[in-house]
Amino acid sequence: MTSFTLHGIPVSRGIAIGRAHILSPAALDVQHYLIAADQVESEVARLQSAIATVHTELQTLWSELPKDAPAELGAFIDVHVLILSDPMLSDIPLDIIRTRHYNAEWALATQIEELSAQFSEIEDAYLRERSADIEQVGERVLKVLTGTANLLPNVDVGEGTPAMIVVAHDISPADMLQFRDRAFSGFVTDLGGQNSHTAIVARSLDIPATVGVSHASELIKQNDWLIIDGDAGVIVVAPSTLVLEQYREKQAKQVKDRKKLGKIKKTPSVTIDGTPVTLLANIEFPDDCPQALDGGAHGVGLFRSEFLFMNRTEAQTQLPSEEEQFASYKKAVIAMKGRPVTIRTLDIGADKPIDFMEHTSLNPALGLRAIRFCLAEPQMFLTQLRAILRASAFGPIKLLIPMLAHASEIDQTLALIEQAKKQLRNQKIKFDEEIPVGAMIEIPAAALALPLFIKRLDFLSIGTNDLIQYALAIDRVDHEVAHLYNPLHPAILFLLSHTIATAAKAEVPISVCGEMAGDIKMTRLLLGMGLREFSMHPAQLLSVKNEIINSDLTVIEPATRKILRTYEPKAIVDAMEKLQQI
Ligand code: PEP
Ligand code: MG
Repeated sequence: MTSFTLHGIPVSRGIAIGRAHILSPAALDVQHYLIAADQVESEVARLQSAIATVHTELQTLWSELPKDAPAELGAFIDVHVLILSDPMLSDIPLDIIRTRHYNAEWALATQIEELSAQFSEIEDAYLRERSADIEQVGERVLKVLTGTANLLPNVDVGEGTPAMIVVAHDISPADMLQFRDRAFSGFVTDLGGQNSHTAIVARSLDIPATVGVSHASELIKQNDWLIIDGDAGVIVVAPSTLVLEQYREKQAKQVKDRKKLGKIKKTPSVTIDGTPVTLLANIEFPDDCPQALDGGAHGVGLFRSEFLFMNRTEAQTQLPSEEEQFASYKKAVIAMKGRPVTIRTLDIGADKPIDFMEHTSLNPALGLRAIRFCLAEPQMFLTQLRAILRASAFGPIKLLIPMLAHASEIDQTLALIEQAKKQLRNQKIKFDEEIPVGAMIEIPAAALALPLFIKRLDFLSIGTNDLIQYALAIDRVDHEVAHLYNPLHPAILFLLSHTIATAAKAEVPISVCGEMAGDIKMTRLLLGMGLREFSMHPAQLLSVKNEIINSDLTVIEPATRKILRTYEPKAIVDAMEKLQQI
């Protein structure tokens, strides 16, 4: 068989090599026939019983969730139970059987198609992707009806047996659970996007995966040899012996590197010349804290609190209450066991809208975003500030304010923090009177007017994602200008080194919490600029630490100074390559 490659969206890193295991084709492809009038009630009963069976299946999955299973998995099963219990799925197909005399499979498939078509029209990407959940739930019921349940075979993969790679049209997060106990080493799906639940679960389970590989489940045949390159989103089908060997080597190296990294978990994060460097984690939810601790984080450098405000269900209030927020912040600070937790106040707007925001500006990235929005909604902001302050009674918390540019914004923010403190004092509620307050430096104007910030605040944190977006005038979510998003642009290097050096001179703590901090190709450059605090996704912590403990500042600093005097892009790239090798 000739080899070919397929391309999709890389959602989970690593290389998987194995034989394809094709999951049964799309279950919506079902038999259609009309039933006789006297069979209607038995057909209704057949569908009801299938739905009840799936209910029991989901409950069993819930109760058998391993203790260390990612928190999302339980939530996904809950979503599926909710969908299954919704009259749209549990009642309407019964009506279709009664009124149109369709067989149970046809009635259910008709309604699933109708519902998922409605969802596909929704503008919100997250909600749109929920149509996949509806199809997955429907598929489960159809499998019971057609007697093809038991999605994955019980394969006993002994020594020397090739690993299995699951290829499916789509796969539900609940079914992904079965990857744990069986020897599946990766998966490929026709459907899916970065935000699909399945992709999120794959990442949290750390299984190489590529989704959105159109027609993969038709083009790949059962037992084909497959390679998934989860970093590139590439699938090689029926690879030649040479290609297979190359990927085996690459995979073996990755496994070896990972093992090696595990060994430095307890190694102090200190450069060769003895300079200590603080490693912090970026988190979205309190439940991310154990992963941060596992990676050896010295604390949380960025808790993106806006995620608590997103994807609110009907049952929840539109905005999280003070109690709900307090519970989350307290949970994070307790989970970090005395290590500092930097909570960033609400950063919504631009690519992170929430339902509560009414209007959309013409240029949302330049509009009422982050602190600008909070200052326009002081009651909402005060609620968040009180919740954070209350949590500060349970462990060290720092307050980080996003998108500040003007002295007046800093002053208004500090006045609101003071107001929140006063309210708590009046209510005799405990909080940390000395809670440090810091600013994200992510607007070029802020980086160029640091004395305004240094005079008023306790610490700074550079948000390189936005600093680059605003300095280079490139929308960070627009794929058409993505090629211009360049952290090594001389203007960016200047803004970074100027900010780090100015803060260091003023003895104000400074960190970087944008993606650059977790990119090992940038570690030495940032160290050379004088950065001593890095905050990143927990999965990056050990790789960055590995760079740090192999870096000697006595040689990196002069090399970095040279890069900062270079303006030609090619010369910068060459010098960066050299920096990796010294
Ligand atoms: C940044 O802008 O670099 C940052 C860390 O914040 P966010 O990515 O949440 O905008
Ligand atoms: Mg930002």
